[in-house]
Order: sequence, then structure tokens, then C-alpha cells
Amino acid sequence: MAKLHFLGTCSGTEPMPGMHHTSLVIETNEQYYWFDAGENCAYTAYLSGIDVLKTRAIFLSHMHMDHIGGLANLFCCIRKMISLGRGQVVKDNTVEIYAPRLDLVDAIKGVVAEDLQNFKALRFETKNTRTFEGLIHEDENLRVTARHNTHLKEDGTHGWHSYSFLIEVEGKRVVLSGDVGAPSELDALLEDGCDLLVMETGHHKVKDVCEYAQQHHPSRLRFSHHGREIINDRPAAEALISTYPLDIKIAYDGLVEEI
Ligand SMILES: [Zn+2]
Repeated sequence: MAKLHFLGTCSGTEPMPGMHHTSLVIETNEQYYWFDAGENCAYTAYLSGIDVLKTRAIFLSHMHMDHIGGLANLFCCIRKMISLGRGQVVKDNTVEIYAPRLDLVDAIKGVVAEDLQNFKALRFETKNTRTFEGLIHEDENLRVTARHNTHLKEDGTHGWHSYSFLIEVEGKRVVLSGDVGAPSELDALLEDGCDLLVMETGHHKVKDVCEYAQQHHPSRLRFSHHGREIINDRPAAEALISTYPLDIKIAYDGLVEEI
């Protein structure tokens, strides 16, 4: 059974008690696929029993700090496990990284390399999502489709730098919103059905997201990337979502959801 680990559920706020910036991990076939890598993600993953050496790929929705702030530490943690003799990364000692700004991924790798010997023993295969979308990754475990959104107020002239993802895994369809300009930007990812929708509420009202979900009928809706509405008064948000005839929950750091 595939699982979704919520490592961090906060939007890009100042530090909040009990929550960290955005990072999700899909576990399937004893391997891990990261979707964003906000602060503290490696720490939380390691202490919750996720074997970072079983990482297959890292998908970055966009390069804002609340989505990549933990990437350097994730690289470090993987490399540390190798240097401690815990093994190698599961597939050819290689981590695939999908990102819309490979220059920034390289910069982070450069910082990490300063501190680590033999960093080159670990291979990174980087793929630029800026120039293409649609099906971006397929292996024996899952398929990932990317769809751009307008979070960065772009018109696509220079490619796109912000994405949401559809993951097809073990016969289920999971949609993870990046930071979207409007919920309707997920329409194309939801049109063939959705078993689990994880929607950001950093830029949208809880009520608006619930009403959007009513139109598209995901089997389950989980809120993440929480904004002030949920952070400031979670009980009020929970009362509001309970008025909708849908399976909706507000995720928290450490939640593990079966897909
Ligand atoms: Zn964000």
C-alpha cells in the first residue's frame, strides 16, 4: 500500500510552533519520492523511519524557500548515510531531481560539496521541468505528470517555473497542488478522477477550496501548505470543512496517509 508522508505542512511564514515548511513524500514499493523539500524535511523523515537511501527522485514545484529550504540538508543526510556505511542510494546510487531552476539546484549542491568528501560518489540526475510539462517521470513504481501554474505571475514566454503534480501510483491518482494562482489551475490534473487531492491553503480561502472540491469530487481532500486562516484558528477551519459532505482533513506535520 502506497503512503503519503506529510513532513511539513506550513506555507512560507515565519517559524510556527509544531509545523515546518512544505515537504511531502510518497512511499511505494519501499522507495521514496519527495515532493518539495522545505526546512527540516530530512530531520523529520529520518526520525520517522524513512530511509533516505531509498530515495528515487525529488520533484520541486518551484524554487521558493518554503519548498526548497531543506534540500541542502537532505543531500547531506543522504551522503552521510553513505559515508556511515549504511549502503548506497537504491537505484545506481543516483537521485533524480526535477526542478524548474537547475542553476539553483547546482548552487545548493555546491554548498553541500564544500562540507563533504567524496560527494561525487553520489550521483544526481537533474532534469529541467521549465521547458516541458505533461508526463515527466515514469518508472516501475509510479508516473508523474506536471502542470504549470501561475504562482509566479509568468506568461510562459521564458518557460514555467512553478508546477503542480499528478502522481499515478498503485492504481490510484494523487494530485499535489503546488502554489497555485487559482484552484481551477488543477482542473486538467483532476479531470480523469482523483483519489487524493492535497491542496495548498497558503493563498486561498478554506471555503473556496471546499467549494472547488465539491465540483471535482476527489475521494479525499487534505489541506496542506497552511496559510493564516488555518494557522490562526484551526478549530474554526475544521468547523467550516465539517459542513461539506466530503472527506476533508487538515494535514499536520507527521501525518501519514494511506493512498
Ligand atoms: Zn509556498
